Amino acid sequence: MAAPLQLTFVMSARSLTDLPPTSAEIAFVGRSNVGKSSLVNSLANRRQLARVSNTPGRTQSLNLFSLREGGTIVDLPGYGYAAVPTREKATWAPMIERYLLQREGLRALLVLVDGEIGPTPLDLQMLDWVRANAITTLVVATKADKVKPSRLAGRKQQVAAASRLHEGDITWVSAAKGTGIDALRDRVRTLLG
Ligand code: GDP
Repeated sequence: MAAPLQLTFVMSARSLTDLPPTSAEIAFVGRSNVGKSSLVNSLANRRQLARVSNTPGRTQSLNLFSLREGGTIVDLPGYGYAAVPTREKATWAPMIERYLLQREGLRALLVLVDGEIGPTPLDLQMLDWVRANAITTLVVATKADKVKPSRLAGRKQQVAAASRLHEGDITWVSAAKGTGIDALRDRVRTLLG
């Protein structure tokens, strides 16, 4: 069993200039409600580290966590919030793009897609953009427990095909049941090591 990641919340940044430089970092991104906060909590085996079901206003910031064994995790603001004002929506993409292109310590981006729903148009835009810009990316399918076991193999094929990836390129997890969490902890450690 992979030990939980010992994560400490460091800060919430409203803009990139507020972020301290780091030497090794991975970032998490996904549409609102994809299960990002639940996944961060699950990796750390903590309940309330990243808040679950945040109000949109609060999630428009970049949340930085440090790992005790070294490295940083940045929880990027989610996309696709209906309730976020247009002005904030317009600043989301340039901020994220600049972060992904310019952040020096960035080792990889984890793009979360909902395993039950599959990639949404916004997820596909994100995946196209990271591909076009050669950002090292790991796709993580969340909420695996919501897919019936008898359907899971087929669902994995569908999500991979829709994302234009091979099945083995997608890591399936369930924060609710703990499935795949150990493997993802190992991946995170390797990416940051
Ligand atoms: P975020 O907006 O991406 O941070 O998503 P949250 O972590 O707040 O989760 C959104 C909703 O999905 C919440 O109601 C969670 O309880 C639920 N959720 C998150 N992860 C899982 C999971 O692995 N399985 C199931 N069944 N529900 C989940």
